[in-house]
Amino acid sequence: MNKERIYLFDTTLRDGQQTPGVDFSVEDKIAIAAMLDEFGLDYIEGGYPGANPTDTKFFEKKAIRRASFVAFGMTKRAGISVSNDPGMALLLQAKSDAICYVAKSWDYHVKVALGCTNEENLESIEESVKAATGAGKEALVDCEHFFDGYKANPDYALACVKTAYEAGARWVVLCDTNGGTQPSEVRDIVAAVIAAGVPGDHLGIHAHNDTGQAVANSLAAIEAGVRQVQGTLNGIGERCGNANLVTIIPTLVLKPAFNTRFETGLDADKLQGLTQLAHSFDELLNRSPDHQAPYVGASAFATKAGIHASALLKDPRTYEHVPPETVGNLRKVMVSDQGGKSNFINALKRRGIVVSKDDPKLDHLISIVKEREATGYAYEGADASFEMLARRTLGSVPDFFRVDGFRVMVERRFDANGNLKTVSEAVVKVEIDGEMTMSVAESVHGPVNALDIALRKDLGKYQAEIGDLVLVDFKVRILNGSTAAITRVLIESTDGTGSRWWTVGVSDNIIDASFQALMDSIIYKLMKNRDQAGQIAAE
Ligand SMILES: [Zn+2]
Repeated sequence: MNKERIYLFDTTLRDGQQTPGVDFSVEDKIAIAAMLDEFGLDYIEGGYPGANPTDTKFFEKKAIRRASFVAFGMTKRAGISVSNDPGMALLLQAKSDAICYVAKSWDYHVKVALGCTNEENLESIEESVKAATGAGKEALVDCEHFFDGYKANPDYALACVKTAYEAGARWVVLCDTNGGTQPSEVRDIVAAVIAAGVPGDHLGIHAHNDTGQAVANSLAAIEAGVRQVQGTLNGIGERCGNANLVTIIPTLVLKPAFNTRFETGLDADKLQGLTQLAHSFDELLNRSPDHQAPYVGASAFATKAGIHASALLKDPRTYEHVPPETVGNLRKVMVSDQGGKSNFINALKRRGIVVSKDDPKLDHLISIVKEREATGYAYEGADASFEMLARRTLGSVPDFFRVDGFRVMVERRFDANGNLKTVSEAVVKVEIDGEMTMSVAESVHGPVNALDIALRKDLGKYQAEIGDLVLVDFKVRILNGSTAAITRVLIESTDGTGSRWWTVGVSDNIIDASFQALMDSIIYKLMKNRDQAGQIAAE
């Protein structure tokens, strides 16, 4: 039997941007888009070109290779023509494959928010869709407040959907913008839309999580006939979030209720990267992953020792709804951890490091990683540090240079003009081929910056090689309260080739934690220059 295709649409970079405390830079957007593209999403919505400088810049160049790159914007304003609408011009010019228009479909909003007639709104939808297809782009229409609009005035809500479809929209997306609709209502209303003549393979669902049912509503819509599902990574989004794609995707791929009828564009083995995708995204947001997240949480397949653990070891299916390795997660039992080992071997293989299952050095590496993760290291968000640790433990990392010691001073004083100043000074002693050099640097941007400048000031014969090394991000997380807390520092680096890598340091001293992460970054860069490092990051 031919399976029907479900299209996966990610709006992390657009609707996810509405999350309190989340503000993506252009660099962040490029990195996230590459992660999503690599994973196998069909559509990646990047933002709202013209609405803010970040999104405008992000759409100057197509950031992805495989997926359809989607720009978001309003339908044409009522009362003016498409060619006279400046917002429309920006949308049509953006380097996107598709345009997703947000359109009002609740007559109350048409009157109150747009201040135009119902007819004018339908006209805007029609002309906007035609402008996109006329420019050679795929058109999508997000019908905002669709379910509430349908309950208030079904004829008008349906007229909006039909107008978009008949004008040539590839997808008309039914949005539960307020997030209060229940799965049974979603099912009935989707059925009514299809009965009104808009086929399900042109319909999408966009659900919000205000009653904790965004995923359930999305799946209900699919069962009722829609064939595109929208959501975000880890369910980020305003208020209670959007539908969580990290939950929806494995459900579609692994659960017989769906996978016997439907297929997605994801390769089967891609799903094994799901846990890493979810955790890397949290690291990028500088927040702790949710341990109890379905499928990908650290506790998702954890069983406490005892009667369950021994039964679990005899037959994992007795206590697991899916095998954890299908989503790249780990089974956690308080006895010998076989699942962990193959996971490690795979993680190493991805970095070009081959190690046999029986190699005692592998057990040693696993115990070091576990020990370090228990003290706060997060290797999921720091591929380069993980690789350095693995190579040090399993083989060898060349001794490029040795830091003999460093000293950092912070001085807060009044300058000659009576202004309060805080200046940091760092001294680093480095040994290269038996020769000692000492570098001193000063910074008004804090002790870590001073240390970074001093460390990279004179690396002797390696100096020219690290000339294009740039630290693009520096994240600090306090792992437990009080001033005596453990600090974790994550550094993101890049170089002239456009590669990026992440390194980590942990210490009860923030300078020391930063130093560890800086050192790993420099050594990784030197190894990378010699083709001795694996390809680890989005390039
Ligand atoms: Zn939304």
